[in-house]
Amino acid sequence: MELWFSENHTENVRFSIKVDKQLYSGESEFQRIDVFESPEFGRFLTLDGYMMLTEKDEFIYHEMMTHVPMAVHPNVRNVLVIGGGDGGTVRELLRYTEIETIDLVEIDEQVVEVCRRYLPQTAKCLDNEDGRISFHYEDGLKYVRHCHDMYDLIVVDSTDPFGPGEGLFTKEFYGNCYKALREDGIMVNQHESPFYDNDAHAMQRAHKRIVSSFDFCRVYQAHIPTYPSGHWLFGFASKKYHPLKDFDPERWTARGIETKYYTTHLHKGAFYVPAYVEKLLSDVE
Ligand code: SAM
Repeated sequence: MELWFSENHTENVRFSIKVDKQLYSGESEFQRIDVFESPEFGRFLTLDGYMMLTEKDEFIYHEMMTHVPMAVHPNVRNVLVIGGGDGGTVRELLRYTEIETIDLVEIDEQVVEVCRRYLPQTAKCLDNEDGRISFHYEDGLKYVRHCHDMYDLIVVDSTDPFGPGEGLFTKEFYGNCYKALREDGIMVNQHESPFYDNDAHAMQRAHKRIVSSFDFCRVYQAHIPTYPSGHWLFGFASKKYHPLKDFDPERWTARGIETKYYTTHLHKGAFYVPAYVEKLLSDVE
């Protein structure tokens, strides 16, 4: 008998991956957690039935969430990651020796435990060998309420805007992230997909709120095969730096960080989004 994982991308579109076996299934206080093994995408994690990451394409998402802001901000020392319990974002951040501390605020400790057990490709770094990571198992919405002028970079690596992740798409949350950043801080967030109507509305709602909270807001894109439509957006919001005018390709290249997706040429291209996406964004700016 064949086993397939399927996710509805809309009421009329379904995305399926053939599965060899299910490695884990459990219910935490917050969500259902599953890990599967597949011939095409390797192991993959789903939360409440929604794809979070696969071993084959996670590098695209995690590199774009981290290297883009790191190539703009000249001096990132203290970072806050909200969500991201799979470790992929933290893994990329740890490659920068100048980063001194990473506060990882993940609502669900069980996600971290499951990823450490079944997804070492992203979660091995959570062994925290050099002690730079501090773990906070709490709601990111509540955590940032008490942070002022503390971080150079905030990465919002959340689930979608429903369930436990809902609060991470609110005006209150973005306003508090603004306060939590230093005067030249940058916030990067997963900005949903522009393609299907429901996702596009969620994306516009988030964009409108970020624009009302930050001085500079630009959106960039990547192709991620296992996310709805494959076309994914990221938000770049900052108090001071422009993602292209303040981008320093030579400084980034001098670090010698090897990547599989991010390049300094791609950095520039990623901010040139298609006409229909420009319109969706400008409609709410
Ligand atoms: N790359 C993924 C995506 O966009 O599909 C995100 C993956 S990561 C596993 C998302 C994490 O955010 C989950 O582990 C989830 O538990 C966590 N999360 C959801 N809501 C949260 C909240 N309010 N505060 C902190 N973490 C939260």
